[in-house]
Amino acid sequence: MQVVSVTMLFRDKVYKIWWVLLALTPLFVNVVEYSMGILPLKDWWYWIVESIVFTTICLVLTRWRSISKRISYFYAIAMLGIVELISLGITHSFSPVSIAAATLGLFVIAMFEEQRFYSEKKNEQKIKLLEKESERDDLTGLLNYRALSQEINRLANNSEIHNIVIGALDIDHFKKINDTYGHFVGNEVLNYFSTVFREQIHSAFPKHGYVYRFGGEEFTIVVSNHSLEEVYQLLQSIEKFFNNKSIVTKEGMKLTISFSCSLTDRLNDELLDTTLKRADKMLYSVKNNGRGWIVTDQHHQRPKKA
Ligand code: GH3
Ligand code: MG
Ligand code: MG
Repeated sequence: MQVVSVTMLFRDKVYKIWWVLLALTPLFVNVVEYSMGILPLKDWWYWIVESIVFTTICLVLTRWRSISKRISYFYAIAMLGIVELISLGITHSFSPVSIAAATLGLFVIAMFEEQRFYSEKKNEQKIKLLEKESERDDLTGLLNYRALSQEINRLANNSEIHNIVIGALDIDHFKKINDTYGHFVGNEVLNYFSTVFREQIHSAFPKHGYVYRFGGEEFTIVVSNHSLEEVYQLLQSIEKFFNNKSIVTKEGMKLTISFSCSLTDRLNDELLDTTLKRADKMLYSVKNNGRGWIVTDQHHQRPKKA
């Protein structure tokens, strides 16, 4: 009977009622057996000892952090078998049924629980994979808007982050590409653009720089613990790269793209949403002033062409 409480106590979410049931089960079982005339009353002290010993064993095992819950559960089941066999010996209650319950019965239940552990682990892995997939954009493989919202929450609560630069980025005249070459070529361009950006940002700011597809041909850059100037310089070099290198599509067409971008620092204790909105607003000043350049908190004007 204790096996039910033991099993519940070694699961992830533990309700205190199972501790109470674990402690009371031997007493309850023995009272029933006594009332049915199976056990004599003289062994009453042993019912209490059995309850205390086994509850203490379970308490120790559940607090034993260096072994997994799964292993400590099997130790608990083995201990339950041993305590029951000793109990049968002391009370001279050996019978084929009582021995089978204390050994074979427990073994079968432990096997069922092992199966449950296994399928629960598999489900957890599947859920983690689905969660990861739900944060990726299908077309470009970049992190999506959902991931951006989560990252914003994470960064806001991370005390090791002392500086955050946010960038808003938009490919210029992208609709023209779709209208001229078709949506498939548009997709190829989006993919290529995303790959270049992801590689550049990740290698320049490992673990601190991320690119998100905000939607359509719009992207967001989040770089933490690096200065705005560092991010600006990298973006200028990417800008040059796209100016000088045409994209060659699968069908051999060559096209050149440019992008408009804004970079802004998060101000002291400002909500990251506010920073993001400022970056978005700043991007409009680039769109309304010739496109194809980068506005920052320090660089407000379109650079003069050399
Ligand atoms: P601007 O320079 O002002 O940003 O002009 P634009 O043409 O880049 O921007 P606009 O907002 O007018 O058009 C964006 C286009 O991007 C329209 C939409 O069909 C296209 N688009 C959005 N998502 C995708 C996508 O996943 N694949 C393709 N091929 N096109 C997309
Ligand atoms: Mg655009
Ligand atoms: Mg746009």
